[in-house]
Amino acid sequence: MKPTQTLLFTPGPTPLHPAVANTLSQPIPHHRTPEFEAIFGSVRQQLKEMIGLAEVLTLVSSGTGAMEAALLQFVRPSTEPALLVLNNGKFGERFGKIARAHSLSVVEIKSAWDTPINPDQVLETLQRNPRIQAIALQVCDSSGGLRLDFEGISEVAKEHNPKIVTIIDAITALGVEPLQTSHIDVLIGGSQKAFMLPVGLSFLGLSDFALSQLEDRGYYFNLKLELKNQQKNTTAFTAGILHILGLQTYFECVRNLGGFDTLYTATKKRAESTHKALEALGLEIYPKAPALCMSVIYHEQASRIRKHLHQKYGVLVAGGQDALKDYLLRINHMGIIETHQSAWVLSALEQSLVDLKLRPSFEGVAIKAFMQHHYKEV
Ligand SMILES: *Cc1c(COP(=O)(O)O)cnc(C)c1O
Repeated sequence: MKPTQTLLFTPGPTPLHPAVANTLSQPIPHHRTPEFEAIFGSVRQQLKEMIGLAEVLTLVSSGTGAMEAALLQFVRPSTEPALLVLNNGKFGERFGKIARAHSLSVVEIKSAWDTPINPDQVLETLQRNPRIQAIALQVCDSSGGLRLDFEGISEVAKEHNPKIVTIIDAITALGVEPLQTSHIDVLIGGSQKAFMLPVGLSFLGLSDFALSQLEDRGYYFNLKLELKNQQKNTTAFTAGILHILGLQTYFECVRNLGGFDTLYTATKKRAESTHKALEALGLEIYPKAPALCMSVIYHEQASRIRKHLHQKYGVLVAGGQDALKDYLLRINHMGIIETHQSAWVLSALEQSLVDLKLRPSFEGVAIKAFMQHHYKEV
């Protein structure tokens, strides 16, 4: 029998959480009512606590919308390089593309998708480009599963010039690990990753410094106008009503688990146990500094393995992008994921390697390593 349901294990979109799916099927309230405004206010408060910055704005857009909004707001047109972009993969590259689409002058540091750009490289580039107004980077560039030292990078940027706005795309980090925000001005999130919501809501955490820099700019992405409205628990345009209700349900689910610290610990453990299992299978972990949101494997036959995993075992993991399209497997860890699901993904992966004659026989190597690491006494 073929699998009847696909187990969605891609690092975005993640599966809808069942409780969130239930909320999304409820009757829709109107957004200009005291009832909705009370919910919006409570969700705003919880988002602020989760992000750890002075303010938060939610926008109705995919994550890229918030990336564009941040650049439009915090980078002024100039003849000299105004924005430093860390291009460590597809999403870093995207910051550069957005800036160029708006004729903003960009300088880029580019590195292979498996090798993180470091704070020294950033400092050196800032010293050579004294007119830089903002720096944009990812916590994890999802194209290669690479974790950047965003803490160290934002710290050197701020020490070099406190007026530089640090813009951090944390779309695959928010809800995955605790984020140190002391040198962050703008922190970006998106609903279809760790929040287990559909795509459609993006978040912008803003520091006091970022707030002090806000100007009336743009139309739909006018952050100053949004701030004025959202501080009154309403929105300039129609709110993402059901997404906001879904977000409230997500926060409830996290509370029921024991809070964000519990979720972060569980995610880390699952990610590390998966890592051990992949190593036990002799597979090559792609990034030199792996993030916790996903495990990424490099394999010459990745594309075949991926198709087989899906067709025979109903497990859908992501492939690579661009030049690595056929050579990467990306396995999700974001969200409230049951341990047994990860265990099944790894066992199905081992059996797929056997089916494709890439391993001699099924020995339960992956599940053994996973269980031993996951349930070891500490
Ligand atoms: C998913 C993702 C985005 C946003 O992509 P959208 O498709 O616009 O939601 C941005 N940055 C990273 C690192 C991502 O993983």
